[in-house]
Amino acid sequence: MNKIETRCLICSQSLNTMISWNTLLIKQFSPTICERCTSHFQRSNSSTALYQYNDPMKDFLHQFKFLQDVALAKVFRQELYTRFKKEKATIIPIPMHPLKQQERTFSHTEELLKAAHVPYIQLLEKTTTETQSSKNREQRIHAAPLFRLMTDVHVEHKDYLLFDDIKTTGTTLQHAADVLKQAGAKNVQYFTLIEG
Ligand SMILES: [Zn+2]
Repeated sequence: MNKIETRCLICSQSLNTMISWNTLLIKQFSPTICERCTSHFQRSNSSTALYQYNDPMKDFLHQFKFLQDVALAKVFRQELYTRFKKEKATIIPIPMHPLKQQERTFSHTEELLKAAHVPYIQLLEKTTTETQSSKNREQRIHAAPLFRLMTDVHVEHKDYLLFDDIKTTGTTLQHAADVLKQAGAKNVQYFTLIEG
């Protein structure tokens, strides 16, 4: 048994995890948050998301995305690893506009996948810095395409899986799927960490 002194990434309480050989055989990663913080998140019943949106999740996203606490990408690494380890489709994280990424310093969707050791590729480019939440339904439906293909990339006639942190209206995922399908993708599904 190895005693590892670490602190919960959310509440900073000491984790004092006792890691046995058994844990290491079953789990790929050691936990980064305490059991109390874990219990505040609500698992999703949907096959396309891990969690439901609630207040603790809202706080998590705020800390991770807006306060740029990149270490929080590790919080869901075990669940994401388990979900994606047998995935046959090619995974594409929803990209941010380059200007926004510069401002945020990292791409949150890519960091979530990297932390979980999930391989992915990028074929898409965001065309607008506007957020979908600032628009009403009518404006979202008639909006110009949110994504375009990156230059010099090739979309194959195969299965792709889009990955985003949260699905609210589905407009973002729909726009991204449309671009890939028009470019020749056979099938485009999606999976998100959270459903709104
Ligand atoms: Zn905690």
